[in-house]
Amino acid sequence: MSLTKYKQKRNFGDTPEPAGKVKKQNDKLTFVIQRHHASHLHYDFRLELNGTLKSWAVPKGPSLNPKDKRLAMMVEDHPLEYASFEGDIPAGNYGAGHVDVWDKGSYEPVDEKGNVISASQFNKALHGGSIKFRMKGRKLKGEFALVKLKSDEKSWLLIKHRDEHATDEDYSAEDYAKKSSLAYTAARNAGTISISKKAVKKTAAKKVPAKKATAVKKKRRLKKT
Ligand code: MN
Repeated sequence: MSLTKYKQKRNFGDTPEPAGKVKKQNDKLTFVIQRHHASHLHYDFRLELNGTLKSWAVPKGPSLNPKDKRLAMMVEDHPLEYASFEGDIPAGNYGAGHVDVWDKGSYEPVDEKGNVISASQFNKALHGGSIKFRMKGRKLKGEFALVKLKSDEKSWLLIKHRDEHATDEDYSAEDYAKKSSLAYTAARNAGTISISKKAVKKTAAKKVPAKKATAVKKKRRLKKT
């Protein structure tokens, strides 16, 4: 598990996203689903494992209807700190747009029969391209599977299992999005707002030690010229 790709894609002097670190494996595994209106709207589905968040971008968002097989593109591991990230990623940065937490909670990795398995067994299953897990979120509950397609390295399908939390009704994650998320998207689509050009949030800048901060400022000045 490494955050190398995550860090390569981002300039932390310019985006409020956390740099983060790989953490120790926790006993309780968490998940987060973030609604991310970047160039295109999608949902980022993230499961904690081995001290980072394994991540998939789900264009249509998750569903509680077992008939929906939602395409999920595996993306780079994210730091655990990312689970609480919400806000604007300024123009010019990777994933520029707006991020909101849509759901979060804990999950249990399970086997075919629904019995809880260890994180290391789950990691093996992940490498084998097929995982099952029980979600305990506010919106997503019960068993789900993520199954890798043979066609390429990054495409998976996110599927709800039939259980007491499943529905046969049409399900759209957008129906359960925050009002502020929907307002952002409506305004983007109407052209009344565009992706934020704001540079670093002050709170993010404060965390940088004085020496480094000067270096970042210098870099930024150089960029402008
Ligand atoms: Mn995303």
